[in-house]
Amino acid sequence: MAVFKDIASLRQWRQNLRGTLVLIPTMGNLHDGHLALVRLAAARAEHVLVSIYVNPLQFGPREDFAAYPRTLDRDLQRLHEAGCQTVFTPDDGLMYPRGRQDICVVMPPHSLSKVLCGANRPGHFAGVCTVLSKLLHIVAPEILILGEKDYQQLRIVQQMVADLNLNVQVLPAPLQREADGLAYSSRNAFLSPTERRIAPLLAETLFDLARRSGGRTAVSDLRMAGWESLEQSGFLPDYLELRDGQTLQPLSVPQTGARWFAAAHLGQTRLIDNVIVP
Ligand code: AMP
Repeated sequence: MAVFKDIASLRQWRQNLRGTLVLIPTMGNLHDGHLALVRLAAARAEHVLVSIYVNPLQFGPREDFAAYPRTLDRDLQRLHEAGCQTVFTPDDGLMYPRGRQDICVVMPPHSLSKVLCGANRPGHFAGVCTVLSKLLHIVAPEILILGEKDYQQLRIVQQMVADLNLNVQVLPAPLQREADGLAYSSRNAFLSPTERRIAPLLAETLFDLARRSGGRTAVSDLRMAGWESLEQSGFLPDYLELRDGQTLQPLSVPQTGARWFAAAHLGQTRLIDNVIVP
């Protein structure tokens, strides 16, 4: 497996490459959800490149950038076993050589980025779009794979690719869950054993709401019932909303492609999840 740490040698490798290249951007601490993306990529293209970079630009001042789990040796081992041939592991000096202040950034559209996770995380999605556009320019893949776990991120990046005419196909990957329904996430590592037992109730609540949407109960009543049951289970919900899967605008009546979105704190850990209305 080739591991690139600088841009010049990666670009040289890229210039000589024949066949389709997929980029899977990650922040490392890889779990089975990430590895499912690698398998999807390998089925779609000849070459798979995984980037591992904890992007400081997308973390707020009070967020967990310093504590974010960094497990590079184990990640490389897991990628090697999963059949990934190429990895890019830039550092901050390579990605932001002039620092993080007073640099060009990519600003996502207000309607997609100031709602849900963007409402309480100012600058988060501009940080995501900026690092992803840098990675797309450096790696120049034909296909970009993003997981539906971060559904809002997926929609914003799809819009960025369309609005900026980026020459890449965005391929969404289905959300991967543990056997008990909890969405795989690097942040699950922060959960205490008691919190880990409670955590699947987030997905359970969303599946229950999705199943009951379109029935007799109004969306506002479903939302209130879901919120209360999360609180009773020990979550501190951040948001719980039914939104359109394309525009991410709130819905009072379920329609095709609608999704329930949730973010909730469990102790110190913030979990997110989303479920499509069948
Ligand atoms: P991250 O390392 O958290 O930035 O995630 C890297 C990529 O993996 C993103 O496109 C995520 O949406 C995707 N991903 C993370 N967890 C999951 C999951 N449980 N199912 C599917 N994709 C995921």
